Amino acid sequence: MSDFIRNCQLCEAPMESSPFLLCPECLQEKEQVRVFLKNHPRVPLHELVESTQIPISHVKKILGID
Ligand SMILES: [Zn+2]
Repeated sequence: MSDFIRNCQLCEAPMESSPFLLCPECLQEKEQVRVFLKNHPRVPLHELVESTQIPISHVKKILGID
């Protein structure tokens, strides 16, 4: 039996099985977005992308507006 490998829900990179649906990098991005929105609740999407340097496709998936 080999280890179960799945794909990250966000960037689709293969990752080892974990309790999370996202790879470590994407978990970090998600946390960054969460913190940024907490501090800037009404920030426009493009400003969020510029400030966090996270690809907009990731941000949209994180926010569920893809
Ligand atoms: Zn990922």
